[in-house]
Amino acid sequence: MKVPLLDLQAQYRALKPELDSAIAEVMETQQFIMGPKVEECESAIARYSGCAFGVGVSSGTDALLACLMAEGIGPGDEVITTPYTFFSTVGSIARTGAKPVFVDVDPASYNLDVSQIEGKITERTRAVLPVHLYGQMAEMDALLQLAEKHELVVIEDAAQAIGAEHGGRRAGSLGHYGCFSFFPSKNLGAAGDAGMVVTNDAERAEKLRCLRSHGANPKYYHKAIGGNFRLDALQAAIISVKLRHLDAWTSARQQNAERYRDLFSKSELRVAESTAHPGSGGGARSENGPVDLYFPSVVTDRHIFNQYVVRVADRDRLKVELAAKGVSTEIYYPVPMHMQECFAHLGYGEGDFPESEAAAKTTLALPVYPELSEESCAFVVGCLQDFIESGRCVSAN
Ligand SMILES: *Cc1c(COP(=O)(O)O)cnc(C)c1O
Repeated sequence: MKVPLLDLQAQYRALKPELDSAIAEVMETQQFIMGPKVEECESAIARYSGCAFGVGVSSGTDALLACLMAEGIGPGDEVITTPYTFFSTVGSIARTGAKPVFVDVDPASYNLDVSQIEGKITERTRAVLPVHLYGQMAEMDALLQLAEKHELVVIEDAAQAIGAEHGGRRAGSLGHYGCFSFFPSKNLGAAGDAGMVVTNDAERAEKLRCLRSHGANPKYYHKAIGGNFRLDALQAAIISVKLRHLDAWTSARQQNAERYRDLFSKSELRVAESTAHPGSGGGARSENGPVDLYFPSVVTDRHIFNQYVVRVADRDRLKVELAAKGVSTEIYYPVPMHMQECFAHLGYGEGDFPESEAAAKTTLALPVYPELSEESCAFVVGCLQDFIESGRCVSAN
């Protein structure tokens, strides 16, 4: 049975008439740069996230970069973030000339361990950049308190968390800025690269609008050195159509996550929640004896399951075995940022962030996309069980 990690063709088939007419409309007007489609998309995403303003940009990466630029963050400054994230979180900080300062993650959520932030704050610290990984939010209450106490800017990397909610507030609306990516594999994906910054601060929104068009206001009068960070009208039109379906897709992802949890608990596998994971020190064994597989803990009121990530001991072999049976999976992320070649100059090494390193070695993302069938979920769990049980036979011999 073939089970892809994501099935964008199925999504397109379901939305084809709506999408095709939105695209045709832009083609008729030939208004490709800025204009009504971009503005419509900006207000829709802002409203969806519980923010006053949306500023469309060219990607999630450029959203992060533009926020850092808007704050004038650069050489001599420090920005606190997580090493267990997609590259662009950290790449954006480094590109401004500021220094990324890492804090390890909490293994229950894979998000910043907020209790470790204060120890990393110096007089050079300007901002904190929490990432809401896999669709769950970082512990924002404690983080915002710290940020206020130390007068730090908070930039949320909500690329994987559009619509995630905790305590009645949505991802992206809690910090000074929220950054979204509409990369095709995100829960709300464009037909190419696209992104957006949301904020409740009118001045910050204005600054971002200026920066995304080369810092010009009006045209040809440059207040600042910005970039070409604009959101295409075609992408904006596509995003606006897809946004109408996002809540239904989120429910379907949540239902698939439920199914997995159910199937795991009824299987022969010894399973536990990721909160029970003993971390880097203990190996795959909880207080209640050996564990074959850890399924995700839900720590956010509304988890949007951009990824459904399990932890297993023999992850790399499992991935190969699943692929042989037609099940596509992915490793997010095999190398934490403090161990990347391009960040060697930061002076970090193996052992500095044990939870991030342990997660990088043992996590595997299973298919959880909205169109995934119940039968496919059962097949994936069956394959996992076969692999783990055959491993037990080998080790018993
Ligand atoms: C996807 C992603 C980004 C970058 O978004 P792009 O649109 O691909 O530039 C940044 N941070 C995280 C956590 C992401 O998952």
